[in-house]
Amino acid sequence: MSELPEPRRESVSSAEQLDVVLATVRPLEPEPVALRDALGLVLAENLTSLTDIPVFDNSAMDGFAVRASDVRPGVALPVVADIPAAAGEPAPLPAGSAARIMTGAPIPVGADAIVPVEQTTAGDFDGGARDEVTPSAIPAPGAHIRRAGEDLRAGDPVLAAGTVLGPRQLAAAAGSGHGSLLAHPAPRVAVIATGSELAAPGEPLGPGRVPDSNSTLLAACVREAGGVATAVLTVGDDPQALRETLDALAGRVDAYVLSGGVSVGAYDVVKSVTRDAPGIRFSAVRMQPGKPQAFGRWLDGRPLFGLPGNPVSAFVSFEAFVRPALLRMRGLAETARPRVSAVAEADWASSPGREQFMPVVVDSAPGEPLRVRPAARRGSGSHLLASLARADGLAIVSEHVDQVRAGESVTVMLLT
Ligand code: AMP
Ligand code: MG
Repeated sequence: MSELPEPRRESVSSAEQLDVVLATVRPLEPEPVALRDALGLVLAENLTSLTDIPVFDNSAMDGFAVRASDVRPGVALPVVADIPAAAGEPAPLPAGSAARIMTGAPIPVGADAIVPVEQTTAGDFDGGARDEVTPSAIPAPGAHIRRAGEDLRAGDPVLAAGTVLGPRQLAAAAGSGHGSLLAHPAPRVAVIATGSELAAPGEPLGPGRVPDSNSTLLAACVREAGGVATAVLTVGDDPQALRETLDALAGRVDAYVLSGGVSVGAYDVVKSVTRDAPGIRFSAVRMQPGKPQAFGRWLDGRPLFGLPGNPVSAFVSFEAFVRPALLRMRGLAETARPRVSAVAEADWASSPGREQFMPVVVDSAPGEPLRVRPAARRGSGSHLLASLARADGLAIVSEHVDQVRAGESVTVMLLT
């Protein structure tokens, strides 16, 4: 591979780079999805209830359906019917009688209260039909009856477009009569780690080989962001191999996330392959780590991210640019992680002219402000992968600050 002239790199802030990313990606086209496949997706329609909830007047207790005005404490009523939960339309209740009724069963016409079995002198409720029951107290009219539409009326809104579908939201959709709904599909993402030095995780390392941690990292980040890593691949520093890999994926993924090969080294494979794609721009982002970034539309129109290869840089770049893009593609309006302010527990240095994303451990105690300290003993370093595993957040230090001092307040993007 020959050395290539360096592409012109525009110097941008991380906020400007993120603006470019978010202006390029769109929510994926909604499609009908069965409820069982919709966990974690974002609803793309306003869902209204197809039924009343509850669907019909029903008993909140196991007991006896009565007319409240018929009940005299200690006076037996004849039991004329037995109403299980799947009773269909029960027969009307004759005056002066009771019907044995189970929780959830429809209230017979005429009945206006339920006497729970615990408030009768009847013996064995489970032991089959009985001839009569003796209530021990007079029920209030309406007692223990769940009215149709008490929770929601047919036509009422249930879930708004933009809602993330978790277990409770899916249950509300099912309970209001829906079997499927319109949702944005999860973005399908190809993760491609580049580098001839990379060995698959767990493989023995020959001289000069390093374990490929980025494909594991980035595939997991994709999944955590609600995407699907449909392809996770490693390619050596061979432009033709990378080009063939990208061509083979076209039409099967919604985004490409590459790592390595975007800086100014002689074998920077992403740099050389994306020369063919006029939509891809190389930027020098004024951040640390994560300065060299490639981003734009690949030849198939899908967004392509070329992240730097150092693992901490790849992670910070994913958090700064890829995660917000995937959230937007999923249909979410809010794409930022929560940010809090915290007190620095230690001094640390920051490169002037570059916004710092420092992996930090967050310490919290009830009633006290959050405190943070660098996750790595040696401060920042884009290769300090093991330290990154200890971090709970990224402290974000302005490009105008070159030294953080203990006791100062810093902004922290929480990772958990
Ligand atoms: P690059 O951006 O390709 O110049 O890579 C920068 C540094 O990150 C080099 O030390 C690489 O060995 C390392 N690196 C690149 N890709 C990976 C990866 N997938 N896993 C672990 N380290 C990597
Ligand atoms: Mg490389």
